[in-house]
Order: sequence, then C-alpha cells, then structure tokens
Amino acid sequence: MLNFLIFGPPGSGKGTQSVRLAEKFNLTHLSTGDMLRAEIAAGTELGKKMSAIMAKGELVPDEVVIEMIAARIDGARDTAGFLFDGFPRTVAQTEALEKMLNERGMKIDSMLVLDVDHDELVKRLILRAELSGRADDRDPAVIENRIDVYRAKTEPIIDFCRQRGIYQPVNGVGSIEDIFERLSRLVSGHIG
Ligand code: ADP
Repeated sequence: MLNFLIFGPPGSGKGTQSVRLAEKFNLTHLSTGDMLRAEIAAGTELGKKMSAIMAKGELVPDEVVIEMIAARIDGARDTAGFLFDGFPRTVAQTEALEKMLNERGMKIDSMLVLDVDHDELVKRLILRAELSGRADDRDPAVIENRIDVYRAKTEPIIDFCRQRGIYQPVNGVGSIEDIFERLSRLVSGHIG
C-alpha cells in the first residue's frame, strides 16, 4: 500500500483534488475536516465540543484526530493506499501517523504540497463561503487566522518530510484540470 499526504494552506484545493485522485488511483481518501464536520452534523458530544474550536479557525486537539485516523486505517479494505487530506496538521500528528503506519508495515510515501499565494487563497475562500455555507469560510478574520495557524503549526511538517526525501511540491494555481494533471503525474510515479 502507498500512502500520500496532500498538503497546502486552507483554500489550496486539497479537498477538490483529493476526491479526484482517490477515485483515479483507488486510494482511500481520509479527510479529518470532513470527519469533524460529520460529527457536528450528527450532533455528537465530540462534534459539539469541536465546533467552537473549528469556528475560530483553531486546531482541534491532536489526540482527537489521531484517534479518528487510527480507526479508519484499520477499517479500510480493498485499497491501493491512503490519501490523507488535512491530516497531519502538526508535527506531533505527523510523528503519530508515521508510527501508526510503521507499526502496520507501511510508511508515508509522498507528501504532495499545493503552493498557492496568499491573495489567491483569500479570494477562493471568500468565494467558497458563498457556495459551501461553511461557517469558518464566512468571516475574513477566521480565514486569516486559519492561514496563520497553517504557517505556524502545519508548515513545519514540510521540513520533516524534506528530511525523509518525500517532499513533492506542486504549483496549485491554474485550472482544476491542470492541477489534477500535475498531481496525477506525481502519483503515477509511485504507482506506475
Ligand atoms: P481547510 O483546509 O479548508 O481549513 P478542513 O476541512 O481541512 O479545512 O478543516 C477545517 C477545520 O477542522 C480546521 O480549521 C480545524 O479546526 C479542524 N481540523 C481539521 N483537521 C484537523 C487536524 N488534523 N488537526 C486539528 N484540527 C483539524
């Protein structure tokens, strides 16, 4: 099994591209953002606790997402591998993921990083707010906070992946199709 991280700031297009890549390459798409929103929609205790954190654009505690991911990894069947989207988001989550995979005879094979400049991100998130109705897309201050949190807590993961030789940057500006082509080429390089 091959394991890919798709990575980039909020609004970089991870979710859109992940769904397509997962389908094309028979990868299991695991999005912690989607899982957390599903908890909120279902009105669970966990969802109630996490929604306030998410509405501010802060990160939920590492243990919460690590546990969610562990449960999904063991439940997956008939898959070429995993595509992790929005996880890991901290160095601690990355170390936990690496350990989890190693214990199961796997590793992180590639980290695909979508590069998108700040102004383009803000423009996309404001547009998405109108279409998706996501609470954390509606407030410009929350958008800025999410980008700041990404730079401070998530971007350091890039160094971790560089050290392991699995960092694969991708230009994230262009049409959805063009970006999908760029990513597909990199994934094909692993899957053949
Ligand atoms: P985006 O990439 O657009 O910010 P996501 O759907 O990935 O959106 O995440 C939405 C929110 O869910 C985040 O701002 C954060 O509060 C929470 N979240 C998602 N994944 C994680 C994670 N791995 N660790 C901590 N918080 C997370």
